Amino acid sequence: MFVVAIGFLGSFLGANNLAQSDIQRAHQNLQTSSAEIAATLNLAIQHEQDLAISAGAFIVENPNASESSFIRWVNNVDAFHRYPEILAVAIVNVVRPSQLPAFAARAAINAKESKAPSQTFTLTPPGKRPFYCLVDVEHARPGLTEIPIGLDMCDSSLGPQLLQARDSGQDTYAPDSLGGPAAFAVGTPLYRGGSHPSTLAGRRANIIGFTGTEIQTNTILMTALLGHPNDAVAFHYQRSGSNATFKAGHRPTNATTATVDLHNGWHVKVFTAAIAGGVFGDSNSALLLLGGVLLSLLLGLLIYVLGTSRSSAMQLVKERTDQLQHQALHDSLTGLPNRALILDRIDRMLARSRREHTEVAALFLDLDNFKDINDTLGHRAGDELLVSVGVRLKSAVRETDTVGRLGGDEFVVLADGVSLEAGVDVVADRLLDVLATPFIISASQVPLSVSASIGIAEGDRATPEEMLQDADIALYQAKAAGKRNAVKFVASMQESVDHHRSLEVDLQGALEAQQFFLMYQPTVDLSTGAFTGVEALLRWKHPERGVVQPNDFIPALESRGHIIEVGAWVLHEACRQGALWQGRGYRFTISVNISAKQLERDRLVTDVREAISMSGFDATELILELTETALMHDSGSTLSRLMLLKALGVRVAIDDFGTGYSSLAYLRQFPIDILKIDRSFVSGIADSRESAALVHTLVQLGKVLGIETIAEGVETNDQRSRLESENVDTGQGFLFARPLAVADLDRLLLDSAGKPEWLSVAIPGDSS
Ligand code: C2E
Ligand code: MG
Ligand code: MG
Repeated sequence: MFVVAIGFLGSFLGANNLAQSDIQRAHQNLQTSSAEIAATLNLAIQHEQDLAISAGAFIVENPNASESSFIRWVNNVDAFHRYPEILAVAIVNVVRPSQLPAFAARAAINAKESKAPSQTFTLTPPGKRPFYCLVDVEHARPGLTEIPIGLDMCDSSLGPQLLQARDSGQDTYAPDSLGGPAAFAVGTPLYRGGSHPSTLAGRRANIIGFTGTEIQTNTILMTALLGHPNDAVAFHYQRSGSNATFKAGHRPTNATTATVDLHNGWHVKVFTAAIAGGVFGDSNSALLLLGGVLLSLLLGLLIYVLGTSRSSAMQLVKERTDQLQHQALHDSLTGLPNRALILDRIDRMLARSRREHTEVAALFLDLDNFKDINDTLGHRAGDELLVSVGVRLKSAVRETDTVGRLGGDEFVVLADGVSLEAGVDVVADRLLDVLATPFIISASQVPLSVSASIGIAEGDRATPEEMLQDADIALYQAKAAGKRNAVKFVASMQESVDHHRSLEVDLQGALEAQQFFLMYQPTVDLSTGAFTGVEALLRWKHPERGVVQPNDFIPALESRGHIIEVGAWVLHEACRQGALWQGRGYRFTISVNISAKQLERDRLVTDVREAISMSGFDATELILELTETALMHDSGSTLSRLMLLKALGVRVAIDDFGTGYSSLAYLRQFPIDILKIDRSFVSGIADSRESAALVHTLVQLGKVLGIETIAEGVETNDQRSRLESENVDTGQGFLFARPLAVADLDRLLLDSAGKPEWLSVAIPGDSS
C-alpha cells in the first residue's frame, strides 16, 4: 500500500511537472513559431518593398516606358518567380488634367500591346479633378483581370490610402479584391527625382505616381505557416488610415496567441492550440499519470505477490521448523516423546515437585519378549506391536502424565502429583494390566501376548538423567527377578549394576585366562529313576568374585559375539569330558546348550564336527539344546544346518519349550529329537490346569512324533509323580541333582553303579 501510495504521489508530481513544462514548452514553441512566421511575413513585405523601389527606379529612369518594356523589365528581374506572393505590378501615374490627352494617347498604344487590346481609355469616374491617378503600365500574372484603363484610383476606394501614402511618403496597404480574394494592394509613392521630399508640401508637389503591387496574402501566409501545421496566423496592418487583416490557417478553439510587432505598421498574430492547464488537461502528463499509476499498482502487486510468497515461504519454514522440532522431540514410530523430550519433562517435573512438594516417579518399562516377536514375525510386526503398546500405555495413565519411548521396546511413563496419590505401584500395575490382553496386529495371524518389566525411580533427583538411570537399574532388577514385574529403585541396586558392568569388562579376557568351566546336571529316567545323562552348564570362575552364573554373563557374551568362541570351547570341553567318561565305559548322553548366535552360523557345524572328531566322543550321545527363538530365526538355513548336524549323528533338543512363540508346528518342521518342557510348566503342574494340560499335550504329541520329553526344574516329589503319571520320559531338576562338578559326578557315578535308583545317594552339588 505504501509503495502504491508513493507511486501515485510520484506519478502525480511527475505528471504535474510534465504538464508545467509542456505549458512552458508550448509557450516557447508559440514564441518561436510566431517569430518564425513573423520573419517570413516581414521578408514578404521586404520583397514587395524591394520590388516597389526597383520598379519606381525603372519608371523614374524611363518616364515614358511602354507597357511592353515594363513587362520585359518585370520579367528580367524575375519578379514573379522570385516572389510567388506577388500577383501583379503596376505603375500608377498622377496625371494633371492638362496631361490627360497625351496620357490617353499613350494608353491607347499600350492597350494594343496589352492582353486586352479591345480596351479603350475611359476616364472613370468622368469629370474634372485636380489630378487623376491612372494606371500607366501593368504586368499581372496570367489569368488575372487587369485594372481598367482610365480608372482613377485616387477616386476609388483606395483613394484615401493612396493620398495618405503620397503625404506620408510611406507605403499603404489595403485589402483589394482586384487580384482575387485575400489579396491586398500596396501603394508606394514615387516622387520626382526618385527621392522622398522631407516636407508635406514637397511631397505633394513632387508626387509623380505610385508603384502598385498586388499581393496574394494566402501565398505569404501559407509559406509562413509551413512547419506550423496546427497554428493559425493573422497578419494585420494599421497605419495612417490603412487597416487590413489577413488570416490563414485553422484557428483552434481555446487558442493561445502571440503577437509580434514588425514595427512597420504590421502585426503578426499567431494562434496555437492552448495546452490545457493541469495534469488532466495535458495528454502527455495524463498519460504519464496513468502510466505511473499503473506501474505503481503493478509494483505494489509485485511486492504484494513477493511479500505473500515470502510470507508463505516463512510460513512453510515455520511449519517445517515445527515439524523438525516435533521430529527432534518425538519418536517417529509411535509419535511419543523421545529421550530428549522425556528428559526435559522430567526436568520440569522435578522443578514442579521442589516447588509444590509433590510426588514424582519415572517408570521405565521394557517388554520381556519383544526380541522374540521381532525375530520371529519380522520388524513390521514388531513396529506395529510397539505402536499398539504405546497407545495402550497412554490409555492407562492420566492426560497430564507423559508416556515416551526411549527406543527399541523401552518406554517411560512419568507421573506426578495426583497421579501418584494411590501410590506408584498402582500406576505400575495398571501399566502391566493394560498390556495383559493379547495384541491383535495385522502382521501376525495369532494374537500376541506380551509382558513387560518395570523399573521405578521415585522422588527427587539431581538431574533428569539420574532419575532415568535409576529407573533403568530398577528395571534391570525387575528383569532378573522374572517377567511381568515392577521393581522400585533402591540405592543398593546401584552396586549390583556396577558389579555387572565390571563383570562385562572382565569377561573379555576370561576365555584366554581359562576361567570358564562346566558343571554337569544329571537327567533321570522318570519311570525307572535311572541316570540317563547330563547337561553341560557353563560357569565362570571370576578371580575375585568367585563362580558367576550363566544368566549373569551369557547375555553379555551373546551381545558382544563372544559366545561363538566360548560356545565352541563348551562343545570341545563337553565332548572331551564325555569321551573321558565313555572311555571309562559309561554310556550316557551329554547335552550342550547352543546359543541362537551360534546357530546363525555355519561354523556351528564345523565346531560340532571338530569337537566330536577331536575328542572321539560318540556323536550319538551328544544332544544340542536349542531354544525355540533360535530355531525360528532363519528357518531355511537353520533347517539345513540342523540336517548337517543330524548327519553327524547328534540329537537335537528344544530347550525351555513353551516360553517362545514357535508353537507345536515347528516340532514337525525341524528334525527335533527331544523336547525340554520349561520349568515354568513343571512348577505349575500342581496348581495350574493350563500347565498340566500343556504338559499332557506335549507328551502326547511327543509320543506321536517320536519325540522324547524331558521335564526341566523338577524340584519336588509331587512334581515328579505328576510328570511320571503324564508319561514324561525324563526329568531334570534339583530333586535329582543340582549341576555338579566333574569330580562330584564321578563320585556319584561310582556310588550309584549298578543301582537302579541312584538318587538315593546323597549328592553334593552346585548350590545355585
Ligand atoms: P537351561 O539350559 O534351561 O539350563 C537349566 C537351568 O535350570 C540351569 O541353570 C540349572 O541350574 C537350572 N535348574 C535345573 N534344575 C532346576 C531346578 O530344579 N530349579 C531351578 N530353579 N533351576 C533349575 P543355569 O546353569 O544357571 O543355566 C541357566 C541357563 O544358562 C541355561 O538354561 C542355559 O540357557 C544357559 N546356559 C548354561 N550354559 C550354557 C552354555 O554353555 N551355553 C549357552 N549358550 N547357554 C548356557
Ligand atoms: Mg539347557
Ligand atoms: Mg532349560
